[in-house]
Amino acid sequence: MPIHRCQKCNYLLVLLEKRGKFKCAKCGKLFPQKEVEDESFRRWNQKMKEKNENDLKLASRKPKLTEEEKKLRDMEYRKKYYEQNKEKIKESSLKWRDKNREKYLADRRDFWANNKDRLNAKRRREWIQNHDKNLQEDRIRKLRKKQVKLALNKIKADLNKYVSYGI
Ligand SMILES: [Zn+2]
Repeated sequence: MPIHRCQKCNYLLVLLEKRGKFKCAKCGKLFPQKEVEDESFRRWNQKMKEKNENDLKLASRKPKLTEEEKKLRDMEYRKKYYEQNKEKIKESSLKWRDKNREKYLADRRDFWANNKDRLNAKRRREWIQNHDKNLQEDRIRKLRKKQVKLALNKIKADLNKYVSYGI
């Protein structure tokens, strides 16, 4: 059974069933049973409504991102921006390059000088990878050639057999 409180002093009400009334246990004021119950229900209903709205607000709030997730999101934004404005960015970067040719070349020289070891190591890695790839492709090509040769020899041998059988 819900708890009802006095509208005057907020103390607990006691139901006088026979009289159909609530009586405050502190200040003695009487209230009609229906009025008190309606009021309690109205308050309870209002509270539930507020709770639901609050729950909805909490549920729809975006979760907080970690630093790592923020970085990823920013990267995604930049990528998206670049994809959508690729031509414009390229054009303006070329324009800048034309206008600042000396600076562009100097920057490039500096970049190469500052990253010589790293860039050389990268080129070397690429060269080795390419070399391995070329070797592999070469081996495959040779194997294929051999297979074709074997197949041709077999056909020739079969043909000779048929010829010698007189077919
Ligand atoms: Zn009271």
